[in-house]
Parts: sequence; structure tokens; C-alpha cells
Amino acid sequence: MIAERTTKYTDAVKTYMKSAKHATNGQILEYLHITYPDLSATTVHRITTRMLERGDLLCAPPTSNKLSRFDFNLKTHDHFQCVSCDRLRDVELPSDLFNVIQEKLGDCKLNGGLTVQGSCAKCLKKESGV
Ligand SMILES: [Zn+2]
Ligand SMILES: [Zn+2]
Repeated sequence: MIAERTTKYTDAVKTYMKSAKHATNGQILEYLHITYPDLSATTVHRITTRMLERGDLLCAPPTSNKLSRFDFNLKTHDHFQCVSCDRLRDVELPSDLFNVIQEKLGDCKLNGGLTVQGSCAKCLKKESGV
């Protein structure tokens, strides 16, 4: 019975992550709570931890307040992070750029996957009041 419920929730988390691409445990819970009012934070945490262990999710760059965030895209990739709303977007930066930055870093090492920051289209629109 419990296993059955967990499977249902795991599927729901997968479906959500597929469309959201990046999310924290809190965001997953907030969204799924509408459909599953008895879903708890502990269950979401358990599901994402297991998915990470199995390689069904990756860690994305954390939020600005240091909450862990998960990534549904399992390939090494780069991110654009909005400094206003904190949203992440996958972006493909030229590999030359990676090498140039690595060269500048000298002894420090890039881990693969760059994160660049700026203002997203939505926030820019809001700021300009259009
Ligand atoms: Zn934004
Ligand atoms: Zn990503």
C-alpha cells in the first residue's frame, strides 16, 4: 500500500520535473500539493534523494538562498540564472568559452557546466513596465 503510493508520487515528481526542468523540493511540494494534499515534505525529499541516487535527476545550481535545486536534464550543460527571480534556464555556451575560462583560472578547475547570470526576459519586461 505504502509502496504503491510512493510510486504514484514518484511518477508525479517525474512528470513535474519534466515540464519544470529545474525545481527545489519546496517548489515540487507546492505544485504537487494541489493534486495530492496529503503529500508531505518528507516524502518529496525522500523521492528526490532516491532519484538523485539512481541518476534520474542531477543537482542544478542552488537558489540564491542556497536551497538545493534539481535538474531533469541529465547531460552536462550550462545555465543562465536570473538574478531577480532566480529562475534557471538551460543554455548551450560554446566549448571554447569553457576552455578560455579554464585557462584564466589556472590552478582552479571548472567542474563542467557554467552558470551565467543576468536578468531574464520576464523580469526585464516587468522592469520596463511593458
Ligand atoms: Zn527573472
Ligand atoms: Zn539545467
